[in-house]
Amino acid sequence: MKYDYLIVGAGFSGCVIAERIAGRLGGKVLIVEKRGHIGGNCYDYYNEHGILVHKYGPHIFHTVNRKIWDYLSEFTEWRPYFHHVLAVIDGKTVPVPFNLNSIYKSFPGEYAEKLENILLEKYGYGVKIPILKLRETDNPKLKLLADYIYDNVFYGYTTKQWALKPEELDFSVTSRVPVFISRDDRYFQDEFQGIPLEGYTELFKRMTADENIDLMLNTNYKDISSGIEFETMIFTGPIDYFFDYIHGKLPYRSLEFEFRNVGSEKFQETAQVNYPNDNEYTRITEFKHLTGQKASSTTVAYEYPKEYAEAVNDPYYPIPKAGSHEIYSKYKAEADKLAGKVYFLGRLAEYKYYNMDQAVGVALNLFEKKIIRE
Ligand SMILES: Cc1cc2nc3c(=O)[nH]c(=O)nc-3n(C[C@H](O)[C@H](O)[C@H](O)COP(=O)(O)OP(=O)(O)OC[C@H]3O[C@@H](n4cnc5c(N)ncnc54)[C@H](O)[C@@H]3O)c2cc1C
Repeated sequence: MKYDYLIVGAGFSGCVIAERIAGRLGGKVLIVEKRGHIGGNCYDYYNEHGILVHKYGPHIFHTVNRKIWDYLSEFTEWRPYFHHVLAVIDGKTVPVPFNLNSIYKSFPGEYAEKLENILLEKYGYGVKIPILKLRETDNPKLKLLADYIYDNVFYGYTTKQWALKPEELDFSVTSRVPVFISRDDRYFQDEFQGIPLEGYTELFKRMTADENIDLMLNTNYKDISSGIEFETMIFTGPIDYFFDYIHGKLPYRSLEFEFRNVGSEKFQETAQVNYPNDNEYTRITEFKHLTGQKASSTTVAYEYPKEYAEAVNDPYYPIPKAGSHEIYSKYKAEADKLAGKVYFLGRLAEYKYYNMDQAVGVALNLFEKKIIRE
């Protein structure tokens, strides 16, 4: 059998592009996935206690892009869900991103009111101010607030997450963390938010159900690609691995999840509780909040950031620090030489942190801008 496309990786990038090619163009597609399941890092499954969990960490879908939302809605209904995150600071739980409610939970009432008034007067309601910007203020009360958030919410979490000091990370990461001048405790404000009603894996199954799509699990493409006939490859794995690390290894941060089942209906107040300053883990996620599942027990995941080592754990986050982008640009130049024969798509092949909607977006874009025109 000759395939039009060999697609490496069955995450959002691989499955969206496979679905478009097979469904819209009637192209013959083979997806090769080295793991034993589809869905990439968004994979979910029912564990031995019957609880639906996200194997590679909690995934909440959110987007401002109606086209992406409508596209995915062809394969799933949605459970309306708004993510709420609390952080434990000095034994108190406060909403993050840090907002007006967090201020009232952290400071005495009269002082909190003063801070609220200054913020409202200076910036207005509903505005997000990066903490680093707020730290530059000449208002002593706001400066104190900014330092408090930096020291108690930002610094500990960031150093645990990356094993780097904030100043060693790209400004793009550190400059994003805001104070939200609002009473809105939702973690995201995007227009479209939800969790696939029957889970992510079901969504992926429907996306790859087309008879023009063949799927090979538990297979590293390097072991089989020479024996398979195909026209074009779409590669969604790590770009440095593709080129046998000729320019060195791209740095990644990994994670370890410790799943615990608890014999009560509920474990914590919200789906996610962060621990910026205590413990080795960064956060605890309780999945039933996301899925709305009813059961007499509940499963939580403790999340530990880890150093990435090939063959030991998975590459999760590109490390946004000096040097990473230089290595990537060398691989990108190699990739450009293969234009038209191999497309590099998704978070590992483009060495970018993509949210799910962005991963879907770049795949749809590749289809519309390049594939459909070939
Ligand atoms: C902890 C965590 C939480 C996240 N939470 C959210 C969230 O709440 N909301 C959100 O929008 N986004 C979230 N994301 C981002 C989301 O996971 C990504 O957007 C999405 O997984 C990107 O899809 P992808 O297909 O590009 O990559 P992946 O999902 O990683 O898929 C790539 C696939 O390629 C396979 N592969 C690699 N090498 C080979 C090979 N040699 N041969 C065969 N197959 C190979 C891999 O096994 C993998 O299945 C989160 C990410 C992490 C790490």
